[in-house]
Amino acid sequence: MSIPFVRDLEIEYGRCDDLAPGIRRVVAGNPSAFTFHGTGTYIIGRDKVAVIDPGPAIEAHVEAIMRAVHGETVSHILVTHTHNDHSPACRLLQPQVKAPTYGYGPHGAGKAEQGVVVEEGGDLEFEPDERVRDGQIIDGGRWQVDCVHTPGHTSNHICFGLHQGKALFSGDHVMGWSTSVISPPDGDMRDYMASLRKLLDRDDAIYWPTHGPAIRDPKPFVHAFIAHREAREAQILACLEEGMTTIEAMVAKLYAGVSPGLHRAAGRSVLAHLQHMVDAGRAACEGAPALDSQYRAVDTGSCL
Ligand SMILES: [Zn+2]
Repeated sequence: MSIPFVRDLEIEYGRCDDLAPGIRRVVAGNPSAFTFHGTGTYIIGRDKVAVIDPGPAIEAHVEAIMRAVHGETVSHILVTHTHNDHSPACRLLQPQVKAPTYGYGPHGAGKAEQGVVVEEGGDLEFEPDERVRDGQIIDGGRWQVDCVHTPGHTSNHICFGLHQGKALFSGDHVMGWSTSVISPPDGDMRDYMASLRKLLDRDDAIYWPTHGPAIRDPKPFVHAFIAHREAREAQILACLEEGMTTIEAMVAKLYAGVSPGLHRAAGRSVLAHLQHMVDAGRAACEGAPALDSQYRAVDTGSCL
């Protein structure tokens, strides 16, 4: 099953676009191979509004958010997760709007609960004023959102489900333009797969990802992402069964058509798969799975 990517998006940095009743977006000028056109900061409600993912610490972007909410009150700042293109602008926006920030916790919070220390990457300064939990409802008066804990891309990733219009702000968990980066140690393939399946139990009508256009028929998309990862795992297993032992060799084979600039990220994605496969007993290596480990397949089909 191929992923029905959607990439058509007309944007202008600094402009606020009305997308649907009670949903606006300002895109930050931080385009890259990982952010597409840049970070989309959403504003929900009218008069008393929430800002979702203020974005990278770019002053011009925060000024554009402030222009967009001129004459209104920002009552909540919601953060899907703590990558550097999502949460740092909280520190520029919050002193101006004086609203509390809401998020699952600091970078690595979902792993800290498992006793794992995560220091790699991310916005290590962010600490939400209010820590939210899965299933919690944030009430903004005329709008309400569910907090949907969706670890995988990061351990502290939250999607926000707006009741009005059944719109899910899917952050970097499900995006229309690209697959999500799952990079250990904070990224976790098993959690990511469970978080994809979790969305299948919901009845959201539309997803608004942080990067790229909306996903208007979300469930086939989620199914396609699950199928894509299952196919990737099958390819990795085939590599192991051929006697290939290193992530480097697997990346060279499986990502032959991908720009070499993305091979480092691809290696971390293969590592995420292998960690999941080692956990599940389908692959093995000496010690904890790492980028330079030697892997082998585990024969699960006989000797029972
Ligand atoms: Zn991210």
